[in-house]
Amino acid sequence: MRKKIVAGNWKMNKDLVETKTLITELKNAKKTSNAEVMIAPSFTNLWTAFESLKEYGVEVIAQNMHFAENGAYTGEVSASMLNSIGINTVILGHSERRAYFNETDDLLAKKVNTALKNDMCVIFCFGEELDERKRENQENVVGNQIKNGLFHLDAAAFKHIVLAYEPVWAIGTGETASPEQAQEMHAFIRKTLADKYGQEMADSVSILYGGSVKPSNAQEIFSKPDVDGGLIGGAALNAADFMAIVNAF
Ligand code: PGA
Repeated sequence: MRKKIVAGNWKMNKDLVETKTLITELKNAKKTSNAEVMIAPSFTNLWTAFESLKEYGVEVIAQNMHFAENGAYTGEVSASMLNSIGINTVILGHSERRAYFNETDDLLAKKVNTALKNDMCVIFCFGEELDERKRENQENVVGNQIKNGLFHLDAAAFKHIVLAYEPVWAIGTGETASPEQAQEMHAFIRKTLADKYGQEMADSVSILYGGSVKPSNAQEIFSKPDVDGGLIGGAALNAADFMAIVNAF
């Protein structure tokens, strides 16, 4: 059985006080849901979040990290720094990192390697832009992002990897891929994995959908056979909305 996961990506939102408030409201998230529940606050609030939630089964994860183990990289955060405060999962390849911070497939492949070397799990994100979908080129784009970022790994490494399909045109726009569009792409992603690593391995990897998931559409999206959960942005900033999405499982 694949893991079901609902992960909240807080992006650059919530200061310390706001983080503490939201966390208090999320303490029971795992109790009522059949999914694994994760939240990704900013680096400055990871420790507080981890300390507050560790006994509640809500996993605190990082939004990014550097590929180097340590060294002269001013302003960056390493895998071992995250490990040392109890953070064992990192989001890599989010479209905002790709678009605003020039993160390429090659760089992401290095970050994935560093995370795995440090015994971390990765939520690896990818997705096509609007013009790529308009040209019906989405499968090509997504296939290449997955191959370039991950296909240097052996099958066993995928025990530590969760995929997140996030069409860029649906992120923060209020426009969601229809449940059918999500299912179609997720099935393609699973087939891409199966072609390279075999069906059994492909069936074991969780594939999340992200892009304007909200309480009103979560259940229908999550009901699709190849959708194993969601990566939630805007709606993860509001406790009631996030709890409703978590409880869609
Ligand atoms: P959104 O963001 O839910 O606000 O569209 C999703 C994401 O970027 O992970």
